[in-house]
Amino acid sequence: MNNSTTISRFDVADIRAQFPILNRLVKGKPLVYFDNAATTQKPQVVIDAIKHYYSHTNANVHRGIHTLSEEGTLAMEGSREYIAQYLGAKRSEVIFTRGTTEGINLVVHSLGLFHFKKGDEILISAMEHHANIVPWQILCNRLGLVLKVIDINEKGDLCLDSFRSQLSHKTKLVSLVHTSNALGTINPVKTVVDDAHKAGALVLIDGAQAMAHGKVNVRELDADFFVFSSHKLFGPTGVGILFGKEQLLEQMPPYQSGGEMIAEVSFEKTTYNELPYKFEAGTPHIEGNIVFAEAVKWFAALDHQAVHAHEMALLRRATEHVLHIDGLRIIGEAAEKTSVLSFVVEGVHHQDLALFLDTHGIAVRTGHHCTQPLMKRFGIEGTTRASFSVYNSLDEVDFFAEKLQKTVAILR
Ligand code: PMP
Repeated sequence: MNNSTTISRFDVADIRAQFPILNRLVKGKPLVYFDNAATTQKPQVVIDAIKHYYSHTNANVHRGIHTLSEEGTLAMEGSREYIAQYLGAKRSEVIFTRGTTEGINLVVHSLGLFHFKKGDEILISAMEHHANIVPWQILCNRLGLVLKVIDINEKGDLCLDSFRSQLSHKTKLVSLVHTSNALGTINPVKTVVDDAHKAGALVLIDGAQAMAHGKVNVRELDADFFVFSSHKLFGPTGVGILFGKEQLLEQMPPYQSGGEMIAEVSFEKTTYNELPYKFEAGTPHIEGNIVFAEAVKWFAALDHQAVHAHEMALLRRATEHVLHIDGLRIIGEAAEKTSVLSFVVEGVHHQDLALFLDTHGIAVRTGHHCTQPLMKRFGIEGTTRASFSVYNSLDEVDFFAEKLQKTVAILR
């Protein structure tokens, strides 16, 4: 069998060649980057687009008459238009944010000003990232709302029974992660959206981990809000998207206020700008917003079926390898799973493991992965997590497994 992994129309060598960072050495060894759930690496087209922006275009957007400002505005609005099309949304429904975290906080803050009354319930799941727990918790404390938690089973699947039994006319909003960063679980988001809507609840989907593994059409999904980050989708950090249904965004008050989000200001009264600008106060991350579309275009051009097959091959191979390690327990064995392998090893601390792996140039993440309640649910402090992306190879997985096996033997 050829380990250098050519699967259908997908050539991993060709993909790898587009990521210059993959040529670097770490501790004298070729980098094996398995921390993709934390952030992805950037292809050359993205790096070039950043350079091009600052070499040719840099100017503040929207209010300028001069050429650079007009070009910057066109490029940024073009990026919005492209991302809207990719998502199946209207451009007025696509708001540039600093990332998933800010997208959630925007919705929490804005809906918090009018949508809830004391005693209303918000439903999240046991596998949420802190970004989809803490903002709701703060809101619940402020408004006297009840935060309820959908249970998961031992394998890390969402319990639809637990969801349905807690869903009621009191549920005003369901906020659910599409794909878990700590377990890899892919949730039945469409079912949850449809059931929640029947009960009269709004739905926010945290798409941070989903977007780098396939296309999501927000119109088909029908969620009221969908949030994600550029940096997990081969783009720059500090940039993200909040999709919101137009009729909701129209009703929602601004999140932050200041320049850009206004129509007219006097000392007596301010009127707000139209969508999406009502939610974009201040000078945006212009370069990031422009380059975000380059990253999405890069990903969109791949054969997504082949990407999925490749990532599943990586996950399968890694899973088969680690199952041979004595005392290793995989955390997250959901029926529907993305290319995330989280595990604990009896008698070995995950931080020591990661430190040893780093000496071989292997980057994995350890700890609670910003999901402390989930770790508690499994009775553990944290895991070691290898998360695979399009540019990872089976050779890298084999190398990782060999070094992991040796490291565990040494540390025991
Ligand atoms: N939700 C999930 C599922 C995530 O994996 C992350 C990032 N680890 C976030 C939310 C927060 O994303 P960001 O830090 O880009 O705002």
